[in-house]
Amino acid sequence: DVTVVGSVNVDLVATVAALPLPGETVPALDYAQFIGGKGSNQAIAAARLGRAVAFVGLVGDDREGTAVRGALAAEGVDVTYLEVCEGVPTGRAIVLVDGTAENSIVVVGGANQSLGPRHIEAAGEVVRRARVVVSQLEIPLDAVSAAARTCEGTFILNPAPARSLPRELLDLVDVLVVNEVEYEAVTGAALPDDVDDLERAVREPGMPPGVVVTLGARGAYVWDGEQVAHVAAPRVKVVDTTGAGDTFIGALADALSRGEELRSAVQWAVRAGAAAVRSLGATTGMPTPEQVQALTAD
Ligand code: ADP
Repeated sequence: DVTVVGSVNVDLVATVAALPLPGETVPALDYAQFIGGKGSNQAIAAARLGRAVAFVGLVGDDREGTAVRGALAAEGVDVTYLEVCEGVPTGRAIVLVDGTAENSIVVVGGANQSLGPRHIEAAGEVVRRARVVVSQLEIPLDAVSAAARTCEGTFILNPAPARSLPRELLDLVDVLVVNEVEYEAVTGAALPDDVDDLERAVREPGMPPGVVVTLGARGAYVWDGEQVAHVAAPRVKVVDTTGAGDTFIGALADALSRGEELRSAVQWAVRAGAAAVRSLGATTGMPTPEQVQALTAD
């Protein structure tokens, strides 16, 4: 149903009393490793919601690569096209979190940076025939473009980390999903405060037919080619917002692959994103369909 072309990392998370200054060494109070990377997170979110999900990506020939493959497979994600790239490390995010939940992160692209058009070609039908293909920007742009060109279904792009996009790529996107920062990077203008102003902006030539802007606790805006609607998020007890955006995108892919209209797919995704912020860690709180259904918008 859904194919994710994207990144997979091991997140190495150390908790510290205070983030170290340049030249300083500090002891960790706590340490844990998690599977991460936007691609992998989004794939797991869609799989939790019951979709058949295939993952196209690269790991290194190290133990971490074996571990993340196992973790994805355990979530039911098809890892047939998660290839091993020799001589490079599996992607890693080195995360320091202090007592106030402020963090500093170093991302080692590793194997993710070697993903290219030939890997998309090797995956063939898995990209071509998927109802929904999802990509982000933690892999090279030429891999994203190849996925967009190959996909005959709905192509969702989450341009994260934020950057501007070549016109040729934007032209291939069916649904663009951005937060406020990514909106500004892609359009070159700040996100308008007003729904009418946003509607004028997304009607500009060169914008994709579907645009979704996530707004954290305020939910999301959705442009479906007809109008911009605001979808409010249910009120929840926030524990950790890490992975909220990825859960949102996985749920959006889930709903679109089930044939839902964009606007109702966004209503589903907003509730899934809200469900996810109730637990610690990016993937821990990713909901089942029953957990999304149990949450109704205020
Ligand atoms: P990102 O993490 O990519 O910046 P957002 O912060 O916009 O993404 O969050 C994505 C989605 O997660 C939101 O659209 C919303 O559905 C949900 N969400 C995030 N934060 C909250 C919150 N505090 N309360 C309820 N839902 C939230």
